Amino acid sequence: MRALLCASPRELALVERPAPVAGPGAPLVRIRRAGVCGTDLHIFEGTQPYFEYPRVIGHELGGEIAAVAGPSRFRVGQQVAVIPYVACGRCVACRRGKPNCCQRMNVIGVHSDGGFAEWLAVPEDNLVDAEGVSLDEAAMAEFLAIGAHAARRGAIEPGQKVAVVGAGPIGLATAIFARARGGDVAMLDARADRLAFARAAIGVEQTIEAGEGARERCGALTGGDFFDCVFDCTGSAAAMNAGFYLVAHGGSYVLVSIVLGDVTFADPEFHKRETTLLGSRNATRADFDTVFAALRAGAVPTRALATHRAKLDDAARVFPSWLDPASRVVKALIEI
Ligand SMILES: [Zn+2]
Ligand SMILES: [Zn+2]
Repeated sequence: MRALLCASPRELALVERPAPVAGPGAPLVRIRRAGVCGTDLHIFEGTQPYFEYPRVIGHELGGEIAAVAGPSRFRVGQQVAVIPYVACGRCVACRRGKPNCCQRMNVIGVHSDGGFAEWLAVPEDNLVDAEGVSLDEAAMAEFLAIGAHAARRGAIEPGQKVAVVGAGPIGLATAIFARARGGDVAMLDARADRLAFARAAIGVEQTIEAGEGARERCGALTGGDFFDCVFDCTGSAAAMNAGFYLVAHGGSYVLVSIVLGDVTFADPEFHKRETTLLGSRNATRADFDTVFAALRAGAVPTRALATHRAKLDDAARVFPSWLDPASRVVKALIEI
């Protein structure tokens, strides 16, 4: 089969690989569409910590069941999406029903070979029915689920004032599901073009350019209250540190992005707000269910979010251009 192998940083090539076969409890999926994630771009650049090359990357996957081995909840031909987080099932997080933060997490396409390839055998527990949506939408479910999970972590309620800092794909997904829960969402980003996209594509009304004076503008926007819930989706330590000061007294701060390094805040500021601080990692099946309900209801502007695409044969050549901010990629899709 054809597969896109990242052999080492900046070395991405289409290679021939033996095709996998269905195993007991692990149907074979004919991958048809794959989303390109920030993680994939970082792996390509060589800035993803602890990544082991070479690897077939790709974890945002939609396709159809090609074969099953033995009894299965899935049938051949059924359209599916992949939940790429393979949890151990035994650690404390798994025992508490939180496989999204498993101690021994194995992410398909990061820790094991992924789905920028024609075929992939996937454990049934990591498949979700994707009938009734487009292939593009099936491939976009994963990053949307991360946003749905974040909004659930933030326990957003109708009428709450919400700020999403960072208007990349995860920020947009978080904003979409925070709004779906009734939150009154403002978005911040240092890039004006990303804020313009958020206004046009997902209908966010309040956008604030991050940087100098942003906190004052947030105060003015909220009548001095600031935000009941702030989400960080930036991947920037400086932005994460600044976000603590956008939280309303009694409010919450949800760190969706991850940085290598320390996040710091002034304790008196944290304490006087009685800030609730939360991490948000990956997503669970319940979040994928939320996403598919929204997709089937036509409630996610997926056409606008899918800004770029390439065929598998061309992907290695086009991939580097998606690293360039000037290309204004939101979600790039690979057709397989
Ligand atoms: Zn991803
Ligand atoms: Zn576990």
